[in-house]
Amino acid sequence: MDDRVRQELAAWLKFYRDLGIEDFYRRAPGSASPVSPRAEVQPPAAQAAAAQASAETTRRVGAPISSVGPPARSLSLFEAPPPPRREHETLEQVLEDLGDCQRCRLAAGRKTIVFGQGNPHAALVFVGEAPGADEDEQGLPFVGRAGQLLNRLIQFIGMKREEVYICNIVKCRPPENRTPAPDEIETCAPFLFRQIEAIQPRLVCCLGAPAMKTLLGIKEGITRVRGQFFDYGSTKAFVAYHPAYILRNPREEKILREDFETIREFLKSAG
Ligand code: URA
Repeated sequence: MDDRVRQELAAWLKFYRDLGIEDFYRRAPGSASPVSPRAEVQPPAAQAAAAQASAETTRRVGAPISSVGPPARSLSLFEAPPPPRREHETLEQVLEDLGDCQRCRLAAGRKTIVFGQGNPHAALVFVGEAPGADEDEQGLPFVGRAGQLLNRLIQFIGMKREEVYICNIVKCRPPENRTPAPDEIETCAPFLFRQIEAIQPRLVCCLGAPAMKTLLGIKEGITRVRGQFFDYGSTKAFVAYHPAYILRNPREEKILREDFETIREFLKSAG
């Protein structure tokens, strides 16, 4: 290989590495399908991980990798991998990956993993904080007193609990119902993000400040933010008080009802 080609090749490799792409495919002369030299030596799980990493890159960059790039100057020896096509995961796949999770210290104290409940194609997803004692016992989200209030609010906007999807930031009960610690949230939140991506709802309703912070990165007090819509990827998110807060501050229930009316109007106009 002469020096000019070597330099061009190095520039291309650097460009793609800067985008986070580490795997390259060499197309054998005359062959139609890309051949990965590494595919011959990698176990299937490693190939899947590489494909997933590549797909993740696409998601972060936000555009198909083939649509970005340096000024067109083609090198016939090397070609970029075909734009990865990511099918949506299903909730079952996310649940299967979660498995008998031991990724953080909450696993030690839980009875049950509380993954989520409801319509896998719901237009509306509610995200709370963490399972409490009742949820841990039954393996279902929002089944205690806060859950009963949430059920009433769902009915209030003319929906049934089975129509929506309900889940939490963390899937295991924190000891003494404490707020989940940042490292516990960091470990568990990717499963929440994947649940939302699998469902593709019209609206994600953050119930309480921890859900608001986790999904939207908003650090302001919830009092100033509640009742507002935000972009969340290609969908929208809404911030409302947590029903448990209303149980402790019943005078605020009116505000929560108003916020649920706003949700109802949004869903009506979104079709
Ligand atoms: N129950 C849940 O499942 N989540 C909460 O955030 C509170 C009660």
